[in-house]
Amino acid sequence: MNHVEEFSPLLDQVVQQFDAIKERTGVDDGALERLRHPQRSVAVTVPVSMDDGSIKVFMGYRVQHAHTSGPGKGGLRFHPTVTLGDVSGLAMLMAWKCGLMELPFGGAKGGVNCNPAELSFRELEGITRRFTMELIPFIGPNVDVMAPDIGTNAQVMAWIYDTYSTHVGHNVPQIVTGKSVLLHGTVGRKDATGRGVVICIEEAAKRCNVSLDGARVAIQGFGNVGSVVAQDLADRGSKIVAVADVHGATHNDRGLDIKSLLAHVEQEGNLSDFPEGESMPSDDVLTLECDVLVPAAIEQVITKHNASQIRCRILAEAANGPTTVEADQILRENKNITLIPDILCNAGGVVVSYFEWVQGIQMFFWTEDQVNERLRDTMSKAFSACANYAHENGVDLRTAALVLGVRRVALAKDERGLYP
Ligand code: NAD
Repeated sequence: MNHVEEFSPLLDQVVQQFDAIKERTGVDDGALERLRHPQRSVAVTVPVSMDDGSIKVFMGYRVQHAHTSGPGKGGLRFHPTVTLGDVSGLAMLMAWKCGLMELPFGGAKGGVNCNPAELSFRELEGITRRFTMELIPFIGPNVDVMAPDIGTNAQVMAWIYDTYSTHVGHNVPQIVTGKSVLLHGTVGRKDATGRGVVICIEEAAKRCNVSLDGARVAIQGFGNVGSVVAQDLADRGSKIVAVADVHGATHNDRGLDIKSLLAHVEQEGNLSDFPEGESMPSDDVLTLECDVLVPAAIEQVITKHNASQIRCRILAEAANGPTTVEADQILRENKNITLIPDILCNAGGVVVSYFEWVQGIQMFFWTEDQVNERLRDTMSKAFSACANYAHENGVDLRTAALVLGVRRVALAKDERGLYP
């Protein structure tokens, strides 16, 4: 079914989603068959000299799903569960996301199978630089542009930028996005994914008559994305009643003070013993009664085992692939729930990455207001396109987003034809 040999539940989920909608695109079968497979997958070994003097070898992957509409674009993940199959699934999702948002990029994703929590700063730098060196023939500002994802950040992007630029002999800031502003990143990138999630929640709330002022919100994941969603919604008057991270969860029916939760996590490294909330098991956050539920951690957390217990009005998929195919079917039958699918909901990150790439090429920089205004326009336009398609065709928002995203990439592939 795919040239990635190992079985990956996440890749299987993404391929099943593709198969379920492909006929609706109305595009020629040949183009769709080509898009069912990644265009290029690279697996490399990453040998690193560790602090204790030993040499350790990590596995690294980069998958470029399609170059049809431009360079590959997508995050780089450092996590102990990274596999080639999962990275392939995430790259495919990125392709549809870039198509839906009408960005001149193909989809890509990368990962190194390592645990950043167990690595020193120097070891992390060693992994990043060696991984980048191994990928030099396969990346470039017009070939494939990486960005942060789970376990990576602006510092990791700075090392990639430096390694690549040193290798080619001149400065190439647009080789990565998600850099610090000092290194020609863009203002507004750090918060962009969370901001985009909140714009989608606002659009959904308008359409299903939920007032965000006073709305009860539960969030799984308090990292780059989840913490921004929490703060942004709290600023709009919502009550963040529960937040979970990998260690546990904290709950307060009157609403958590997000600034003080952020300070607590900064100091303690986790949120489970936050004094202004009650501890609860992490997974229980997903089934709490609330208006808005935001999975913003990892994939496949909403499954056939908990989907029927979900009690929210709006389910905003900030994480990539948080809902399995079986759970999706159960949620689709629950007419009280509006599900905002991942490729729409978390697209703010890649949209502002695009803005950063453009600024890097031009060496001409925008203000934060310009970035935020263009982000809002792009997200709102894509949300409306999905909502209109869903309404006109009697389908859910995931089907609509996938049809629009896949169709755009497939039409471009079809029109370009097959070479030779
Ligand atoms: P992050 O590493 O900054 O934060 C992840 C958070 O999830 C942490 O709070 C962690 O403790 C928590 N977590 C991990 N495993 C968990 C578990 N089993 N149960 C509960 N909590 C758990 O990552 P991030 O950048 O915020 O990314 C979160 C999700 O959003 C990922 O799916 C990522 O692919 C997606 N995403 C991120 C961006 C971005 O710009 N960072 C863009 C698009 C999509």
